[in-house]
Amino acid sequence: MAEEINKDILEEVKRLMPAPAGITKVDFEGPDVAVYVNDVAFVYRDENIIRNISVSIKKRLIVRSDASKLTDPESAAKKIKEIVPPEAGISEEGIRFVPEFSEVYIEALKPGLVIGKGGANLINIISETKWIPKVLRIPTMNSDVIKGVRNMLFKESPFRKKFLDSIGNKINKQIMKSEWIKATALGGFKEVGRSCMLVETNHSKILIDCGISPEPGIKGVDANPSNGENKAFPYVANMNATINDIDAVILTHGHMDHIGFVPYLYKFGYTGPVYCTPPTRDLAALLLYDYTKLVIKSGGTPLYGEKDVKTMLMHMVTRDYGEVTNVTDEIKLTYHNAGHILGSGTVHLHIGEGMYNAVITGDYKYGFTRLLDEADTRYPRIDALFTESTYGGPNDITQNRKDSETELLDSILATVNNGGKVLIPLFSVGRSQELMLALENYINNNPKYKIEVPIYLDGMILEASAIHTAYPEYLKYSVQQRILNNNSPFESEIFEIAKGEKSEILDKGPSVVLASGGMLNGGASLGYFKEMAEDPKNLLVFVGYNSANSLGRRLQNKVTEIALPGEDGKLEQVKVKMQVKTVEGFSGHSDRHQLIDFVKNMRPSPKKIFTMHGEESKCEDLARVLGNIMHVESRAPMDLDSHRLR
Ligand SMILES: [Zn+2]
Repeated sequence: MAEEINKDILEEVKRLMPAPAGITKVDFEGPDVAVYVNDVAFVYRDENIIRNISVSIKKRLIVRSDASKLTDPESAAKKIKEIVPPEAGISEEGIRFVPEFSEVYIEALKPGLVIGKGGANLINIISETKWIPKVLRIPTMNSDVIKGVRNMLFKESPFRKKFLDSIGNKINKQIMKSEWIKATALGGFKEVGRSCMLVETNHSKILIDCGISPEPGIKGVDANPSNGENKAFPYVANMNATINDIDAVILTHGHMDHIGFVPYLYKFGYTGPVYCTPPTRDLAALLLYDYTKLVIKSGGTPLYGEKDVKTMLMHMVTRDYGEVTNVTDEIKLTYHNAGHILGSGTVHLHIGEGMYNAVITGDYKYGFTRLLDEADTRYPRIDALFTESTYGGPNDITQNRKDSETELLDSILATVNNGGKVLIPLFSVGRSQELMLALENYINNNPKYKIEVPIYLDGMILEASAIHTAYPEYLKYSVQQRILNNNSPFESEIFEIAKGEKSEILDKGPSVVLASGGMLNGGASLGYFKEMAEDPKNLLVFVGYNSANSLGRRLQNKVTEIALPGEDGKLEQVKVKMQVKTVEGFSGHSDRHQLIDFVKNMRPSPKKIFTMHGEESKCEDLARVLGNIMHVESRAPMDLDSHRLR
């Protein structure tokens, strides 16, 4: 049966758009509908027009000016500068015109002032220039990643337009009715790492996450990527479909075990879209470019090159929480806040017209953190739930956050008062910011914890924090307000940027070092560790996950001597005399109680439960417990298992 483009929607837009707008063209553009009109200001002056049509066609409607009506860029830029007050802080090259989309990107420190009260400035800009403004926030801290991604997307606008048009025509076919839905575990089931699952119907195939395993360290092509061998990569070669049969990839969040394999798909011919939230796109850029560099630095050949990472970024389609988006003709995606890291989302899939609904959680935190709101439990409908199980075991009960924080602060104080130095190795994205918020809060507000020594930040922590300051609306209200009011906790004066040789920084006397490289497998933290290990006055504190073969785990298991590559690459023996401590409770994952409470509090209740993203025993135990509590069928699938959902 020939699959025809669904023209009904385009006709519906033409019918509903008031005549004075003067439609000149209507097209699908990615998951959205783009309409071009002669009088764009007429449409934007009445906010109900776009809203009503969107509701009626169940898609996002983008209204743009017909190209013939656009003011020339030079005069338009002049007008914009007249309309927007200088306090908005538009940067030097902050006004850029994108004729492919009839849009003008305005980058400013205070987007609110560009927008104006009730959007008054935007309407003014549209009336005067006919260009549609897209307002972007300049992060309060310098971010090379955000600059790079924005520049790239701007330069690649001609490609982006063509790409979006082509997937628009693919997605918007006449809806074909599917008879069955199947989920196949391709990675990260009964294990942590290489998360990947395939959701499939008669007519659609989508991947949810596509990561690599953090175990046993940095991996290049020497670990065979074509099958699941040595547990590094997902089983995409065994999914009974080729890479190009995939209609879409959906990412839950920007950690390597959920995104690390995506550029590889492009290297081997995938040309479709990747859906994610805007922060996930930028965090993915940070971590994936870093991954390719790290593999090369450690003498390996990376799985894919920077070129493939760029190709991936060019194919990303971003969505905020709560936006309903067609990823195929019959599958709709909606992200809900997952509370795990910046931009993390649980994935709600609505398949067929009301036929089936599934929630795939990715990683989530259902509990207090300083950085993010807890995971959202309300969904329109849930037939099947796939939940992470990282801390799903019977003993995975963490102490409350306040106790964890005071335990950490007490250890730091005791060490520096005794003339020692403290090293805290951290994952750059997530735990670092959480810990910075905690330290900042105690040191500034609690006289008992007035730590007088420098607190250094080293490695990717800075760049990751900068990305947070570009997306305050994704953070907890209190943190958001501080960033918006020029009082960002990540730029607090209690923190100092580490500059120069590590040994020189440490020679200055007692200090606290927050360094990237959470498991000490590489990154800035390893360099500090080598310098600090032999002094018994020093303290090493772990606040996050250490995988079984990591240096971090070996140190937790109290090894006293360790061989590490020195400057010249030759192994050197390092004696570990520093104290080693682990403080639990800072995790961005839910503990056992929080996992169970999340499922109990979900509205509506899921009718079937699958566990994933946890060690085997934890996935099995959690599945059993949830099945008993919820009185529903529950399972702990393993990789390569397929389940017919309907
Ligand atoms: Zn994660």
